Amino acid sequence: MAGLGTQDNPLRIAIVGSGPAGFYAAEALLKVAPAVAVDMFERLASPFGLVRSGVAPDHPKLKEPIHVYQRIAASPGFRFFGNVTIGRDISVAELQGCYHAVIFTCGAQSDRTMDIPGEDLAGSHAATEFVGWYNGHPDYRDRVFDLSGSTAVIVGQGNVAVDVCRILAKTADELRGSDIAAHAFEVLAQSKIRDIVMIGRRGPAQAKFTHPELRELGSLADCDPVVNVRDLDLNAASRAELADKSNRAAQKSYEVLQQFAARPAPTHRRRCHIEFLKTPIELRGKGRLESVMLMHNRLTGEASHQVAEPTGETAELSCSILFRSIGYRGVAMPGVPFDAARGVIPNRDGRVTDGATTVPGLYVSGWIKRGPTGIIGTNREDSVLTVNSLLADLPQFDTAARPGAEGLQALFNARSVRLVSYADWQKIDAAEIRRGEAAGKSREKFTRLQDMLGVLASEEQASAACVAA
Ligand code: NAP
Repeated sequence: MAGLGTQDNPLRIAIVGSGPAGFYAAEALLKVAPAVAVDMFERLASPFGLVRSGVAPDHPKLKEPIHVYQRIAASPGFRFFGNVTIGRDISVAELQGCYHAVIFTCGAQSDRTMDIPGEDLAGSHAATEFVGWYNGHPDYRDRVFDLSGSTAVIVGQGNVAVDVCRILAKTADELRGSDIAAHAFEVLAQSKIRDIVMIGRRGPAQAKFTHPELRELGSLADCDPVVNVRDLDLNAASRAELADKSNRAAQKSYEVLQQFAARPAPTHRRRCHIEFLKTPIELRGKGRLESVMLMHNRLTGEASHQVAEPTGETAELSCSILFRSIGYRGVAMPGVPFDAARGVIPNRDGRVTDGATTVPGLYVSGWIKRGPTGIIGTNREDSVLTVNSLLADLPQFDTAARPGAEGLQALFNARSVRLVSYADWQKIDAAEIRRGEAAGKSREKFTRLQDMLGVLASEEQASAACVAA
């Protein structure tokens, strides 16, 4: 039997999920390990996770890591298997039988809820669904967002909340030319929303958005940012937080908020109000959302550990649509331990754990490992740490050769799984770019699986016709 990590017996790793954490894990493995074969499985027919379906369409620079992922995908030893749902089409146990190790990089596919009365009313949505909808994610293609009212409320003050505010605030001309999904552009272009209210439960010193993203709200074509100067009064603990040199980013955001508060009265068609120290306690409406009851808060606790405490004072805000933007949440993978309280796969240094024990051969990276925090690049460091753990464990691995995806072929056939290879994806990608050119956009995404598979079917027919001719 050839040793593990040789040409005859390559180290075979399955990666589940094709977002940044998955590609950075593949990169780290292909760089470091001798004779390694990486098979990446993705439930959609398209790769790149939230870089494709989470990054805002008007932020094309943030999508540049895709060029890096394209280079990784071209590496010898890398294969992509799209349109396969691990845990449904193929079980984790079946996957484990074909690989020396499995790395889960499946991200955080759901979102946190507010758990308040009325949260299920029509007009109350998760920001993550809206983001998926305007980015052409097939799961959210048929969602309906009614923008016929005048006021939209966004709960939470992270960068996702800012993205949602900005997309709602932009004019059709500002959105045109981006790779926003056509169905979303049509609805947004007709939007009657005039007031966008972004609400934080804590104060301006604790907001999670970053200053470049916040600043953008001040340079929109037809929307003014509105901040009440009284909301910028800080208690002693918040002043201490902003004075902390390690908290420069929050200080910069605070300065942007001060600039917004000092602006003259709004003149544009839309306004984006940034409000603090309020928590929704109930959504009200007869059959659909009509208003949100807000509890006013005060901050208590030590600097950097301040929490929002209700004051007892409430206010009712009329609104026809509300987006909770209070964080993504991981989803359990059948057959893998799950920490339901945190929405992550429990792990130590990327090794999956079950209570006090480590589960041999299972690893994790990205948001499903550490929770939904950090920027795209954070996942690189995270995946390198996980791969280092995996490589350190190699002496304990069973060295018997594994078949990789070839060992799953009979199951794919029996279960009618129509795999999408990387070459297939490249054809879909090229077709999206061609569609985009016709519409003056960088790409026009396919938003339904059957349309993506349709591209492949017509290419196959065309090449069959060529051969026949
Ligand atoms: P986030 O940054 O964690 O922000 C979540 C927000 O929700 C915070 O304001 C938080 O307030 C609030 N919140 C949480 N639970 C709440 C509750 N029960 N009631 C009311 N408010 C609540 O999450 P995110 O905006 O989803 O972003 C996720 C990650 O993606 C972040 O790391 C973000 O920076 C990144 N991202 C980056 C970009 C970009 O770089 N342009 C764009 C989008 C996302 P507390 O602070 O009080 O908990």
